[in-house]
Amino acid sequence: MKDLPEAAALVLAAAAPLAAERVPLAEAAGRIAAEEGRSAVDLPPFDRSAMDGYVVRAADTAGGALRLAGEVAAGEIRSEPLEPGTALGITTGAAIPPGADAVLRSELAEVADGSVRATEAITAGRHIRVRGEDVRKGDLIAPAGEPVTLARVSSLAAAGVAEMTVHRRARLHILVTGSELLPLGAPPEPGKIHESNGLMVRLLAERAGAEAIDHGVIGDDFESTRVAVETGLTGDVLVVSGGVSVGPHDHVKPAFEACGVEEVFWRVRVKPGKPLWFGRRDSTLVFGLPGNPLSSIVGFLAFIEPALRRLHGELDPAMRTVRARLTEAASPSDDRTTFLTSRLRPGADGVLEATPTPNQGSHLTGALGQSDGFAIAPHDSGPLPAGALVDAVRFA
Ligand code: AMP
Ligand code: MG
Repeated sequence: MKDLPEAAALVLAAAAPLAAERVPLAEAAGRIAAEEGRSAVDLPPFDRSAMDGYVVRAADTAGGALRLAGEVAAGEIRSEPLEPGTALGITTGAAIPPGADAVLRSELAEVADGSVRATEAITAGRHIRVRGEDVRKGDLIAPAGEPVTLARVSSLAAAGVAEMTVHRRARLHILVTGSELLPLGAPPEPGKIHESNGLMVRLLAERAGAEAIDHGVIGDDFESTRVAVETGLTGDVLVVSGGVSVGPHDHVKPAFEACGVEEVFWRVRVKPGKPLWFGRRDSTLVFGLPGNPLSSIVGFLAFIEPALRRLHGELDPAMRTVRARLTEAASPSDDRTTFLTSRLRPGADGVLEATPTPNQGSHLTGALGQSDGFAIAPHDSGPLPAGALVDAVRFA
């Protein structure tokens, strides 16, 4: 049985960033740049006014009134030079005409009879945003290997960039196995339960930026499992829920074997989620998640989400944890790294606090509803007292 860090490293070692594609900026948002994004222009692209007011020769403002010779509005270009002793009305963002070197803001201007007088003298450069002072054409805005954050999208758009080269999204196939499972919202039937893993895996995969293809529920039957697995192997990732244990109706491992999927590991020292299976066929990553809902969520957060982030080009896709302070004592169980459904809220001093739910169990979906995430008690931590700092992972 693998420890969590070793198993997570094996998964990441099998995942290589997917091919790059050129997409419109809006589609690049949140994805990882495969090539850097650089500014197409200087910003500002021309000297422009930072204020509403009057554009002048600064030296003229020390003297008397200036003749008002018209105006220049944002978006207009005035190519004839500003005559000495004159001023033009100007709006914020408008291009500074040749010959002018300052903007007298409206609050410092007295306007009367077609002339404008400065109530105080101003110096050259006042209220002018100079070409290229913010960004130079060719400046780096979005480095390769880093996310195209919304802030970078805004910066790229302003810099005249309409497309980015990013890693393509993973295609993730989902198969849910179990003859006892009813699909979402179906009327109750004796001996059957509503399944939740398919929906959860799809939403978590989409949150990680993947394209999810859900094949629905497959009964516990070898041949239908094998056929569904073969179909699911056409994507970048195949996630099969349930059927990876050793019961007589667990057909997933034999189906993987029949389809030529090579096992990398089976079973991880985590609770819940021990029977997790991981393997690959060619470049397709294959995960068998234990069917209990909390086991499958832990398996997704600890292994599948990091794998997707690596496929999407992230350089450091380790599980995203935050530090939290336990409000009560907690312990790992069965010598396994234990994920405890917990409330995660800031304490009175602002430090994030983790309060485990009273009941813990791989099948206890009620506890999920009372949780913000999992507090993690490492398998070798021994008993953790109240006040101990632990890693936690949020559902968000
Ligand atoms: P399995 O891993 O198939 O042996 O399933 C372990 C337990 O999880 C059994 O009690 C199943 O009924 C339950 N289970 C399996 N799949 C799901 C699912 N998709 N949603 C909810 N419970 C499930
Ligand atoms: Mg089953």
